[in-house]
Amino acid sequence: QFPFGRRLPCDIYWHGVSFHDNDIFSGQVNKFPGMTEMVRKITLSRAVRTMQDLFPLEYNFYPRSWILPEEFPLFVDEVRMMKDSDPSWKPTFIVKPDGGCQGDGIYLIKDPSDIRLVGSIQSRPAVVQEYICKPLLVDKLKFDIRLYVLLKSLEPLEIYIAKDGLSRFCTEPYQEPTLKNLHQVFMHLTNYSLNIHSGNFIHSDNVNTGSKRTFSSILCRLSSRGADVKKLWSDIISLVIKTIIAMTPELKVYYQSDIPAGKPGPTCFQILGFDILLMKNLKPMLLEVNANPSMRIEHEQELSPGVFENVPSPVDEEVKVAVIRDTLRLVDPQKKKR
Ligand code: ADP
Repeated sequence: QFPFGRRLPCDIYWHGVSFHDNDIFSGQVNKFPGMTEMVRKITLSRAVRTMQDLFPLEYNFYPRSWILPEEFPLFVDEVRMMKDSDPSWKPTFIVKPDGGCQGDGIYLIKDPSDIRLVGSIQSRPAVVQEYICKPLLVDKLKFDIRLYVLLKSLEPLEIYIAKDGLSRFCTEPYQEPTLKNLHQVFMHLTNYSLNIHSGNFIHSDNVNTGSKRTFSSILCRLSSRGADVKKLWSDIISLVIKTIIAMTPELKVYYQSDIPAGKPGPTCFQILGFDILLMKNLKPMLLEVNANPSMRIEHEQELSPGVFENVPSPVDEEVKVAVIRDTLRLVDPQKKKR
């Protein structure tokens, strides 16, 4: 670790937050220039939407979205038109501030007029999207999947997907959204950082129970119920590849501007966190991409009121140690030479 700056060139640079460093002329950096900007909610929505306009069927894994405040009139008009053409359509929408994380500032609405336009949206742009009302439930709970994806190279495009990931559970039984339950975050939002504060959060001491489990344990359960797990994996792989393809043109612009061709510079790789929601019919839907997924393998435990201790988390360890190990194996400079 070089908290005060590095002196010697390295084979691999492991940056904590972003690419930014002007003094690297060789080796490999674990961040792409511009990735943090690229995965922001608005930028990602725009990139996926461009592809949805071109290939609507290929890109139907991302909920219909509008960018606020600029597309508010469009949002109102389109929802009105869809309601007119199908009066039985009773949608719910989710509003997510741009650049937010951990569920921060997110809320659900039934009608465009419920958007808190005064103050907050003007000062904080957001994405509003169709809320997926019928997620797959396990033990009556909504959950999402965090998958780890290694973008090993942009040109040629090389993508690796970790075979196991995390499933993060809500802590209150799911009900389809109604005006009465819209604000119940422990029922609708799967964020660990929120649910940890619910009295019902269960720290798992193995990989297939509790509020955070391995994705493979969910797949086992689905498979024993007769679900087509192979098809699910192949849909997930398509979703990941298509999402990265949507991000690629802008990423290349950032890359060429920070590391111009012909000048000495490093190559880049990056571990991305893909957040995916499974619908009841097992269709995977992309929620968001994280450029800096947490690699913590411990969680805090309250020993006595106000006194916390870090304890190992077997589920995080099982998944994340393998992700880092395999990433280092894949980018190993010795291997390249051989
Ligand atoms: P953040 O970066 O704040 O975590 P996300 O986009 O991941 O924002 O959304 C937070 C949570 O809200 C997700 O983990 C998921 O549980 C829920 N969520 C987000 N978008 C949708 C959606 N379109 N339909 C249903 N649930 C959603």
